[in-house]
Amino acid sequence: MEFCPKCGSRLEPKKTKSGKEASLVLACAKCGYKKLEASDKVEPKVAKVIQHNPQQFVAVIGKEEQKLSTLPTVRIECPKCGNRNAYVWQVQTRGADESSTQFLRCTKCNYTYREYS
Ligand SMILES: [Zn+2]
Ligand SMILES: [Zn+2]
Repeated sequence: MEFCPKCGSRLEPKKTKSGKEASLVLACAKCGYKKLEASDKVEPKVAKVIQHNPQQFVAVIGKEEQKLSTLPTVRIECPKCGNRNAYVWQVQTRGADESSTQFLRCTKCNYTYREYS
């Protein structure tokens, strides 16, 4: 519900026709103030579904995943393809284990795995 910014009384929705197009206007019955209802400008509230590649998806990847290019790399052998270079970042795991888990991602095949210390 909206109120008139001029006199504070309730705005009533009214349909007006200008040419061929009919538009909805919020009108104040008291002072005649009119406001265009921007109903067609409102974007549908549909949540965007982000689809993860199941092979690359790792449950505990934080925001760091988005800035992989800035991550440091370490010389470690990829268990999948044998490439000796991987991005490394740490994720603080919740729960009983207080130490953070080190994640590694192969720079070649993008295989992501964690390293338990
Ligand atoms: Zn008014
Ligand atoms: Zn690899």
